[in-house]
Amino acid sequence: MVYKAEYIWIDGTEPTGKLRSKTKILADGAELPEWGFDGSSTNQATGDRSDCVLVPVFSCPDPIRGGDDVLVMTEVYTADGKPHPTNTRAALVKTAKKYAKHESLFGIEQEYTFFKDGRPYGFPVGGFPAPQGGYYCGVGSDEIFGREIVEEHLENCLEAGLSISGVNAEVMIGQWEFQVGPLGPLEVADQLWVARWLLYRTAEDFDVSATLDPKPMKGDWNGAGAHTNFSTKEMREDGGYKYIEEACKALGKKVELHVNNYGHGIQDRLTGHHETAPWNKFSYGVSDRGASIRIPLQVSRDGKGYLEDRRPNANMDPYVVARLMVDTVCSAM
Ligand code: ADP
Ligand code: MN
Ligand code: MN
Ligand code: MN
Repeated sequence: MVYKAEYIWIDGTEPTGKLRSKTKILADGAELPEWGFDGSSTNQATGDRSDCVLVPVFSCPDPIRGGDDVLVMTEVYTADGKPHPTNTRAALVKTAKKYAKHESLFGIEQEYTFFKDGRPYGFPVGGFPAPQGGYYCGVGSDEIFGREIVEEHLENCLEAGLSISGVNAEVMIGQWEFQVGPLGPLEVADQLWVARWLLYRTAEDFDVSATLDPKPMKGDWNGAGAHTNFSTKEMREDGGYKYIEEACKALGKKVELHVNNYGHGIQDRLTGHHETAPWNKFSYGVSDRGASIRIPLQVSRDGKGYLEDRRPNANMDPYVVARLMVDTVCSAM
């Protein structure tokens, strides 16, 4: 007997990498081997030296196929055994190891937008729906588009064993969110990429596409972000509040480095409107959804917990965002 392994990787599309996958048939009980692909078709190699290597790093049950089949997240390597330039995970492995004693945890809120027939799901042909206001966490067929897909995606993520902590409808019609975590830096990023793959794959069966475009509709419509909630062991312990404030200050000293690596098109989303702070003005505050970094009210009451970096775009690479946050915050501790 055999089983199917879906090998997933991030390609070399500019400016934002896209997910790719292909299926390998393996003998029952066989371990997941390294595998190759044609990098000249994914912007990862030239035709004359096209072979790239897929190295399995995380696997989980495949909820689409079921049975013994699995999904496999991989890192891309060059033929001579080096991390490919598009492989952002390899650098996170080093940073996570360097600061392992701080036991960093992440919870990422992934926002996204469904599209059907070339417009956001719920937008009428040639016009606009009612202005924003009733869609966030709404109920009813006048406000909600795509719930059947969201439910199926949630079910698939849970069956895959991913640490999804919730889902909700968002401020723009057709826009939704799911959260992954809290988990360590590598775990949260691997799981988020697999959850994204499952989102696209689930929506495929409904003839709907999902996009991580940070600003899918210009004008008075909310963009899509990936708020990144972060804590270290020190922040979670009694008296941790001072470490949270120190972390905010450390992040405030490296604004450009972070904003430039929080997803393409971030200036279009972080405008100072629609629950965002301007991309070039750093601020933090308790309960402030107009700040770059928000300290949740409960955290200020408890005097410990975590912070929420509200800046990352929906299309950010969690391997990059997690690396920068761990590096900036832990190197200042
Ligand atoms: P919001 O109120 O901003 O919409 P959500 O409930 O959508 O918040 O997301 C909060 C996220 O924070 C969840 O993914 C949760 O798992 C995560 N989280 C909770 N505690 C911690 C912690 N100590 N460290 C990191 N992330 C955390
Ligand atoms: Mn949320
Ligand atoms: Mn949200
Ligand atoms: Mn949030």
